[in-house]
Amino acid sequence: MTDFDKSTEAENNHHSSGSAGFALLACPFCGEVPDYPSGDGTQYEIECDCGHASSSVQISDLMTIEERIADDFVDYRYGEQFIERAKIETTKMWNKRAPVGDYFPEDELAG
Ligand SMILES: [Zn+2]
Repeated sequence: MTDFDKSTEAENNHHSSGSAGFALLACPFCGEVPDYPSGDGTQYEIECDCGHASSSVQISDLMTIEERIADDFVDYRYGEQFIERAKIETTKMWNKRAPVGDYFPEDELAG
C-alpha cells in the first residue's frame, strides 16, 4: 500500500555517491553537507553541525489517517517507508533554502 511512492530508488541506492535522483546540498552557512538523521522519533530533522541551518517535518504529517492507525511506532520509530517519505520531503525543504544569494525579499519583486 504505497501509492505515495514517487519512483524513488531508495531500495537500490544505499551508497549515496551522487546519482540518487536527489541529494542534500551543502549548508548555505558553512558549506558542509549535513548527515541524514536516524529517523527515530516523531520528527525528521536535518540539521547542520554549524547550528545555523535545519529543516524538519513531522513524519505523521505525511501519513494518512489509515497509515497512522496501522503503524505501531515500534521502538519509537515509524515504518521505514514513512521515514523514507519524510527524508524526501525534508531533503526538498533543505535544498530549497540551500543556494546562497538566490533569495530576494518580496519587496524586490514588486513593480
Ligand atoms: Zn552549516
